[in-house]
Amino acid sequence: MVSLSATLLIAFSALVSAQPGRLYSSCFAIPGNASYDYVVVGGGTAGLAIAKRLAETASVAVIEAGGVYEIENGNQSVVPYFALTMGVLSTSTSYPRQPLVDWDLISQPVAGAGDKRIHYARGKTLGGCSALNTMGYLRGSVGTHQRWADLVGDDSYTWENVLPYFKKSATFTPPNLAKRFPANATVQFDPTVFDNSLNGPIQVSYGNWIDVTTTWLAVALQAIGMPLGSLGFNSGVLSGFGDWVTDEIKPEDATRSSSEAGYLRQAIADPNSAITVYTHTQASKILFDSNKTANGVLVNTAGFEYIISATQEVILSAGVFHSPQLLMLSGIGPAATLESFDIPVISNMSGVGQNLWDQIFFDVLSGVNLPAFIPTPENEASTLQSYLQDQEGPYSSAGGYVSFEKIPQDLRQNFSQRTQDLLATLPEDWPEIEYIVLAYPGANSTIGAVSATIEAPFSRGNVTISSSSITDPPVINLNWLSDPADEELLVAAFRRCRQAWDSPAIQQVRVGPEIAPGLATQTDEEILAWIRLNLGIQWHASSSNKMGVEGDPLAVVDSKARVFGVQGLRVVDVSSIPFSVPGHPSGTAYMLAEKIADDIKNGN
Ligand SMILES: Cc1cc2nc3c(=O)[nH]c(=O)nc-3n(C[C@H](O)[C@H](O)[C@H](O)COP(=O)(O)OP(=O)(O)OC[C@H]3O[C@@H](n4cnc5c(N)ncnc54)[C@H](O)[C@@H]3O)c2cc1C
Repeated sequence: MVSLSATLLIAFSALVSAQPGRLYSSCFAIPGNASYDYVVVGGGTAGLAIAKRLAETASVAVIEAGGVYEIENGNQSVVPYFALTMGVLSTSTSYPRQPLVDWDLISQPVAGAGDKRIHYARGKTLGGCSALNTMGYLRGSVGTHQRWADLVGDDSYTWENVLPYFKKSATFTPPNLAKRFPANATVQFDPTVFDNSLNGPIQVSYGNWIDVTTTWLAVALQAIGMPLGSLGFNSGVLSGFGDWVTDEIKPEDATRSSSEAGYLRQAIADPNSAITVYTHTQASKILFDSNKTANGVLVNTAGFEYIISATQEVILSAGVFHSPQLLMLSGIGPAATLESFDIPVISNMSGVGQNLWDQIFFDVLSGVNLPAFIPTPENEASTLQSYLQDQEGPYSSAGGYVSFEKIPQDLRQNFSQRTQDLLATLPEDWPEIEYIVLAYPGANSTIGAVSATIEAPFSRGNVTISSSSITDPPVINLNWLSDPADEELLVAAFRRCRQAWDSPAIQQVRVGPEIAPGLATQTDEEILAWIRLNLGIQWHASSSNKMGVEGDPLAVVDSKARVFGVQGLRVVDVSSIPFSVPGHPSGTAYMLAEKIADDIKNGN
């Protein structure tokens, strides 16, 4: 006869073996002084990726100011449809606040955009911006990676040498053709640039639903000279063609694959991972010993201040605005700025917070005679059922169609000599403009949008501080359109958007005159004036702690992401990428985190 306790033991063992790994809660810390090999500040996109890898062989603390978005942002960060419609993504200063997952950052007035201030959404949650972004996964081009390698004097950044790290971070699932709707949203991809045997934590795949208007607008972009490509946008080629983009999405349930859903959950499931996460804990200062070696972080959980010590290194992954802020608050930055707030200078680095790149955009709108999805009480039940049961329908997808190009000759011949000279400095495969097509429900008809994003901006913004306290937000100067080359590029891109709308291939679905800006806007001056007032963001700001070579006045970190002038401190996030890599940055953030984790493990 089996005793009751033996029965319970067998049942418990069965439960444990059915769920290998350990309790989810085992990896979360109780606040209080503690010591680890590595301390990662920021449990965002790059932060969780590098923490997961380092925790395979060492103890790692992650300090994250936010919490768990699946709990604190309802379904908004989980269901792909909301990635495009979440209220908190508004750039207006009267945006609907969601302080549990967004930092509430408002820029300084942008002179080039009619003195508007911009609400610049940034994830304040495990996953960081990978929990708020629009889920597109794209890599840079061969030429732009060669440029990266040249700028930082390190061949390990060439396309050939970073491809293994892109592969290590992502698992690819081809589109589900049985489910994908409409069937004419044909997907092209190159499976050889992924390696699923590596079990990459980020799931890269496609949504199963495409808005029908975007299939027509894709045809319009093809008709004006950007044909459907055969590789997708993950093979090191971007310019000159269009394609349906890959998303960071889990195909089995059509939910977001963030760094939290990917990297952190893999770490938690691995009983050998020595990762410990501090949530709702804000780092206020990086601490140094007398030899300028980073040895810990001063943190604050709900008003309780304590120190997390690092016996090996501190990794700063707080993102494009907060990483430069934390460096400055810790004594690393332009001496004049630090001294004006009585911050003792540990390293006088003029480049901290400078070199801010941002890929800005606008869209040209017209009506179309095609249906748009509008959630209503009548369709809610069937739409939800289709999503939850079959991973189909509008809720299952954030994906869309994009094209890249250099502005064609007929439009660029009017560029000033200076603009032509600047553009000529870019690698041949660096696209100048990305076109994205979208659709919205309108009052009288569906509204189609052909948008243009500048992929080669020459205007540079900066990030600075307004006090010595972490409780004051970083000061963000976006400086859009401060370089006239950007104005010329965007005016030419605007004319390309109109060419797409005028393409004979789509006239059968177009209705009424152009909605925005409207045909009264014709001259370059009128177009530019309209663009200034209608600029938007892709939330791709980067490079505010530029990677470079010693002696470059803007460089903050070397090619191993080590901060110049101190020891034991690296910056690993989109702030340390030397320039805005064309495409979308999250894939590059994961690649960089994987690469620097390897450098650290290899003793570099
Ligand atoms: C709305 C939106 C849409 C986007 N769309 C796309 C897209 O479709 N495709 C794409 O590739 N990219 C997209 N991006 C950009 C991309 O997501 C980001 O560039 C990238 O995720 C940034 O990664 P990161 O590691 O640099 O920073 P983050 O992911 O922002 O991580 C920084 C982390 O540090 C934490 N932190 C900051 N300060 C502190 C502190 N003092 N103490 C403790 N923690 C702190 C933050 O809370 C955050 O979790 C989008 C971004 C947004 C916001």
